[in-house]
Amino acid sequence: MSEPFSWIRPEPWGIHVIPAQAWIDPARAVDHALITHGHADHARGGHIKITATPETLSIMKLRYGTPKEAKPAEYGETLPLKGGVNATFLPAGHVLGSAQILLEHAGERIVITGDYKRRNDPTCQPFKVTTCDLFITEATFGLPVFMHPPIEQEIGKLLSAIESNPDRCAQVGAYALGKAQRIIAELRRAGHQNPIYVHGAIEKMCRLYEEHGIKLGNLQLVTDRTKNDLRGSIVICPPSALNDRWSRRLPEPITAMASGWMGIRGRARQRNVELPLTISDHADWEELTDTICDVDASENWITHGREEALLRWCEIHQRRAQALALIGREDEDD
Ligand SMILES: [Zn+2]
Ligand SMILES: [Zn+2]
Repeated sequence: MSEPFSWIRPEPWGIHVIPAQAWIDPARAVDHALITHGHADHARGGHIKITATPETLSIMKLRYGTPKEAKPAEYGETLPLKGGVNATFLPAGHVLGSAQILLEHAGERIVITGDYKRRNDPTCQPFKVTTCDLFITEATFGLPVFMHPPIEQEIGKLLSAIESNPDRCAQVGAYALGKAQRIIAELRRAGHQNPIYVHGAIEKMCRLYEEHGIKLGNLQLVTDRTKNDLRGSIVICPPSALNDRWSRRLPEPITAMASGWMGIRGRARQRNVELPLTISDHADWEELTDTICDVDASENWITHGREEALLRWCEIHQRRAQALALIGREDEDD
């Protein structure tokens, strides 16, 4: 009998599914890529054939144009790949269309999470716990200090900031794919019905979300407005626009940033952030360790972040684990 899991090989630029002649989230162009979600550190341009959820395919099309061949994978649908490998895409709860990929071959089940979280998110389907033999998990926030607060609390801070400063606006730096739409949807859920003003880069992705049935309410482009129009409102822009010329059009903006890293003292100060919002689309420490218990795999491979603490935790809890060194996994999406 061959070694367990020998049909899958982690390379620095992606995970190679050998009999299927396919790669998961490869960092270089390949013949057949299986893509977990649309963030740039997972979904790159130039592949010949792409298998991904319909939502991820439309995000990639918006960013990179139409690939030669696109195979949509609906959640829960099992697709036969080459070499007797079956692939099933399952919700990861990270951003619209995000998927874990379950691979089955030679009597073994492998789940690759891509990025994920366990919290409720009105803009995407919730993470589905799937038992397996090998669990390949991300660990972006794999340290016990990371405990993401409830999102309601952070949204509450944002709403009270504009209530107490009706002559200013709140300028929120948020990643264009996922974070921005989640904040908008949570503001709506909290009862905020006013127009929300967005940067052009964010507007495009919001339209795509709406085409996929995610309602975001009244959104307006900042460029169509005067300073006076924007007083007392919330403006969402990519983090790169926070301290650049773009923000000069805003009335005395309260600079806010929505990121899992805002939970770390000093990070907010470094970026001149007046209102740090700890909002993350990744699992925090407790979600990571709970999920390792829930899927109960005989082996865990840890990638994409701070592996050491999670390795140590696995050792203490008598779960087999090793770290993978994948390159190019930097946060577009923390
Ligand atoms: Zn991501
Ligand atoms: Zn990622």
